[in-house]
Amino acid sequence: MSTPIKNPEIRYKQLFINNEWVNAASGKTFPVINPATGKKIVDIQEGDKADVDKAVAAAKRAFEPGSVWRNTDASDRGRLLNKLADLIERDRQYIASLESLDNGKPFSDSFNVDMVLVCKCLRYYAGWTDKICGKTIPMDGNFFCYTKLEPVGVCGQIIPWNFPLLMLAWKIGPAIACGNVVVLKPAEQTPLTALYTAALTKEAGFPPGVVNMIPGYGPTAGAAISEHYDVDKVAFTGSTEVGQIVMQAAARTNLKRVTLELGGKSPNVVFSDADLDIAVEACHNGLFFNMGQCCCAASRTYVQEDIYDVFTKKLVEKAKTRVVGDPFDSRSMSGPQVDQEQFDKILALIDSGVQQGAKLECGGKRHGNVGYFVQPTVFSGVTEDMRIGKEEIFGPVQQIIKFKTMEEVVQRANKTTYGLAAAICTKDIDKVMTYSSQVKAGTVWVNSFNVFGAQCPFGGFKMSGIGRELGESGLQQYSEVKTIIIKTPTKV
Ligand code: NAD
Repeated sequence: MSTPIKNPEIRYKQLFINNEWVNAASGKTFPVINPATGKKIVDIQEGDKADVDKAVAAAKRAFEPGSVWRNTDASDRGRLLNKLADLIERDRQYIASLESLDNGKPFSDSFNVDMVLVCKCLRYYAGWTDKICGKTIPMDGNFFCYTKLEPVGVCGQIIPWNFPLLMLAWKIGPAIACGNVVVLKPAEQTPLTALYTAALTKEAGFPPGVVNMIPGYGPTAGAAISEHYDVDKVAFTGSTEVGQIVMQAAARTNLKRVTLELGGKSPNVVFSDADLDIAVEACHNGLFFNMGQCCCAASRTYVQEDIYDVFTKKLVEKAKTRVVGDPFDSRSMSGPQVDQEQFDKILALIDSGVQQGAKLECGGKRHGNVGYFVQPTVFSGVTEDMRIGKEEIFGPVQQIIKFKTMEEVVQRANKTTYGLAAAICTKDIDKVMTYSSQVKAGTVWVNSFNVFGAQCPFGGFKMSGIGRELGESGLQQYSEVKTIIIKTPTKV
């Protein structure tokens, strides 16, 4: 593995509009904080409505018929996405370092997980660009009917801080593949890798206005995107609460297309016939990976009653071996939570678990006394009426819940407003089939957790979202179907 750059230079601090670096119209800036120390890294220009207007206008110009972008061959869009992936790979050590500095995730994860998945996603969608086809349709009468899949137009994209560059790739990959133009707002906590990647889009040769980036806050810059009349589609990843605000804004303004990837409270069910070593890995990594800051985190661990005590013991032992520390130390398996707000929210939820009668098996406190580190925490004896049993914690806090039968556990797994992911650990194919068909979730993992492929659709049932990202499904969200009917002299 590469060695991290512990003090990466911050090269881009402005807004990226029409392939130019510009200051915010207001002249305001906002601080970006290092979550490992709580200290400021840098001040970034703070985009607002006026800047979003400017970026949307640039994107709209880039999308006009006859523009450079509209005249770019589909295969050349693929070449651009491949080139962008090559440049990210070229600068992988630097970008992974920047991601760890800004987000707090261990460098080993930034370098070996995030950057790898980013490049794979961009390359996967690069391959699609000239394979996005309509149909010919044998309609009644003397007509020739065909469909075309056309780009939607100006796509507003609002992303979170938990996988800053990966969420950017999930958004711009399919949007560009389909020929759209983009105005993206990174999360205010983690704008640094997005801004660096904006510079790489210019280096790769993306024409002006095709990719624009506006760092800033949600209620200002984010709301300006979701309310904009010239934004044709908004793609949002983040909390369910803000997802509802984004959808309301779209409905209230121009009915822009909306896709949402929101929160979860994903159940991971362990039957007593499972390979327990595999199940421990699935439960532990399913929850503690990325400090629990995954929308699909396995935050309800259901364990069958006959192995409940022994399995709980194994999970607690595993959690105690998890090394928490400096993201740039190669021994660290977990870094800090992303910010003070998340840190406070997690500690308050841990406190509620204790107050509501769950058994605190390990952890439960802040780790160290600098930055936003939280000890890996395990609760047993959890029930779904406790706050920790039903609310999204987004932190390193594992809930272990006892169950008896399949029928009961399916019903309890589904007793949530969320439906993002679910998992089952068993050696019994009949159990796999029953559970995977009855659980209401967009992804079901079997004897595994957090396994992603650019080829495989990801998204939520119920209040976990609308639409799918990745795979061929991801393309559908960035295309409009146009039907063309031509009168013909004879039947064709
Ligand atoms: P959030 O939903 O507030 O922020 C996500 C993105 O939305 C950010 O870019 C933010 O600036 C933007 N945003 C905020 N308010 C907006 C508005 N009114 N209009 C448009 N955009 C807006 O998430 P958060 O406050 O960073 O975290 C809160 C909780 O959200 C977390 O504790 C976690 O439960 C959940 N979350 C989920 C995901 C996910 O991947 N599904 C990611 C991050 C956070």
